Amino acid sequence: MLFIDGKKISDDIKAELRQRVAFHKLHIGKVPGLSVIIVGNNAASQVYVRNKAKACIDVGMNSEIIQLSADTTEAQLLGSIAELNGSPNVDGILVQQPLPKQIDDYHVTLAIAPEKDVDGFHPENVGKLVIGKLNDGFISCTPYGVIELLRRYKIETAGKHCVIVGRSNIVGKPMANLMMQKLDFMNSTVTVCHSATPDLSTYTKQADILIAAIGKAHLITAAMVKPGAVVIDVGMNSVPDASKKSGQRLTGDVDFEAVKNIASAITPVPGGVGPMTIAMLLSNTLKSFEQQNKLR
Ligand code: NDP
Repeated sequence: MLFIDGKKISDDIKAELRQRVAFHKLHIGKVPGLSVIIVGNNAASQVYVRNKAKACIDVGMNSEIIQLSADTTEAQLLGSIAELNGSPNVDGILVQQPLPKQIDDYHVTLAIAPEKDVDGFHPENVGKLVIGKLNDGFISCTPYGVIELLRRYKIETAGKHCVIVGRSNIVGKPMANLMMQKLDFMNSTVTVCHSATPDLSTYTKQADILIAAIGKAHLITAAMVKPGAVVIDVGMNSVPDASKKSGQRLTGDVDFEAVKNIASAITPVPGGVGPMTIAMLLSNTLKSFEQQNKLR
């Protein structure tokens, strides 16, 4: 069984990015900058945003956290985004989810300039992904991270049956669109399952590559996996664990301990897809910087 080590691959990617950032600093005296807007005081979001900022600093990029109060209006938030859209020092903009009720997520997605939309959520970037213009736009970071794992472990995907469980706009749908592209480490036959799929295991048992993006701890059991399948677990679920100081631990959508005995390759949680998401966010920010400075 191949253990797909997302922590190691994300460290490799960060080392590559660090070198390129240092090169640009030396040659044009500028480094990429990521601005993250957070509205309100959601504790988990605060941790995610801090981790993103730390990762930027770690590779030599600039990062800025813009903290807005929980009662910020949609117009105020759109005003802050417009300022960042126009700032030459900002290459990537992201607005941390979830947003307070008074703000419409879709309006926020539309407001971010597509050329700075390093999350890849703007319809222009989603459209480029669907039509296969992957180099032109930005690919949503989590599915992009999964592709990068497949690529770096040289996992054969062409003509394989890839079953994706989950159809969210941030993971399942872009993942399906990527896996069906006529490109290396994609080019699969794709099936997408969701909560209305009857008898989920009928589909998961056919998967050569099974990607779980559900948000339900250990929903995918060994009985649902074909022997020899490649299993990618996107899920991040907090479950009670009395042995931990916090009283909880992070676990995936896949029953790792049982499934690892039958899979040919598997990602762990934590240490699988999670660290790749941040690495691809940094990679998208560097890409935006290079595009805006006409370096690519
Ligand atoms: P969503 O809740 O937006 O989507 C979950 C999807 O799973 C939906 O399409 C839903 O179906 C489907 N689903 C739910 N229950 C079942 C079921 N019993 N059988 C089949 N399908 C089901 O979640 P996200 O896509 O945002 O995230 C999925 C998981 O990935 C979460 O654990 C999240 O924390 C994690 N995640 C991890 C990231 C990382 O960096 N590793 C980044 C982003 C997310 P329906 O559409 O019908 O409701």
